[in-house]
Amino acid sequence: MLEVLRKFTLAESPSTEKAFADRCAEVIAAEWDKRGLRVNLIPQKARGSHIRIVWKPTELRSRGQLLVLGHYDTVYATGTLKKMPFRIAGGKAYGPGVFDMKAGIVQALFAFDALQQTKTHPGKQIVFLWTSDEEIGSESSRNLLESEARRSDAVFVLEPALGPKGLLKTARKGVGEAELIVHGKASHAGLAPEKGVNAVHELTLQIARICDWNDSRRGVSVNADVIKGGTRVNVIAEHARAQIDLRALRNSDMRALEEKLRNLKPILRGAKLEVRGGFSRVPMERNVSAALFARAKKLASQMGISLGEATAGGGSDGNLTAALGTPTLDGLGAVGDGAHSAHEHVVVKKMPERAAILAALLATS
Ligand SMILES: [Zn+2]
Repeated sequence: MLEVLRKFTLAESPSTEKAFADRCAEVIAAEWDKRGLRVNLIPQKARGSHIRIVWKPTELRSRGQLLVLGHYDTVYATGTLKKMPFRIAGGKAYGPGVFDMKAGIVQALFAFDALQQTKTHPGKQIVFLWTSDEEIGSESSRNLLESEARRSDAVFVLEPALGPKGLLKTARKGVGEAELIVHGKASHAGLAPEKGVNAVHELTLQIARICDWNDSRRGVSVNADVIKGGTRVNVIAEHARAQIDLRALRNSDMRALEEKLRNLKPILRGAKLEVRGGFSRVPMERNVSAALFARAKKLASQMGISLGEATAGGGSDGNLTAALGTPTLDGLGAVGDGAHSAHEHVVVKKMPERAAILAALLATS
């Protein structure tokens, strides 16, 4: 497993560098190809190819499909390997993208091997889909992964597990980004302040209002994280804008939040507001994962592994498949820490364990 992980990691694959991502896709595809599986590389204009691998059941009567989903793109620019080489130390494997989520792809590969070697034949077709742009919002892969998820009875997402205990992610917050734009009126701050409408003032008043919508108990968070406005200190600001990060655990809260944003009214006389954007990934509510999680927990306990669950604050492609109503279990990938940071790593001895859990899930679905 480590040898394959090393190979995948050495093929650097930032979402935004197509030539490198394409090369990585070939390296990954070759491993599946070796196993005699049907591998499709689906080329993209501006991104790396998506990889679709199909395993067909021998049983002719079999029906249905299982989707094993993940991404091979990383947030690291090419050349990162020089500062952050692939290495194994103290039972951990380090390197750019190992945890998020190349080790997950390796585990899926070995889960498949385990099924083959034990002559376990899942009753359903299995599609493994490794995409190239999850880290930048899945624009080029969204249609593809949604259409596969629609055809599937379950989706297993190989994103990293949560925390050292390897918790599965049975709920994920919905994620969005909105922009609040304020149009005011410029005027000389000294000669005619009363003729201006200060867009910066209006924006700060609106942000104070928006702050009150935070509700950590319900998992709702609203954060204006980037603001811009004004031109010069003696000119009453004509324009101001804020980019706002939106998160919610429930669909109803998400809709309420969008509604409240759209209904914002100006506070200063003469100011005008414009709201753009909203949620791009809807929440993955726990009920979409509950049955799959119960089965995973039971299968794991038969192997002497205790499996827990958690809610993730970030979104993944699991949000997209869950939104279609397809049962989705996320966080099945590697156990480790430090995603998107210099100490990103996976715990080596957990890799076969996680592969075994996935194999058992595929065999019993
Ligand atoms: Zn990821």
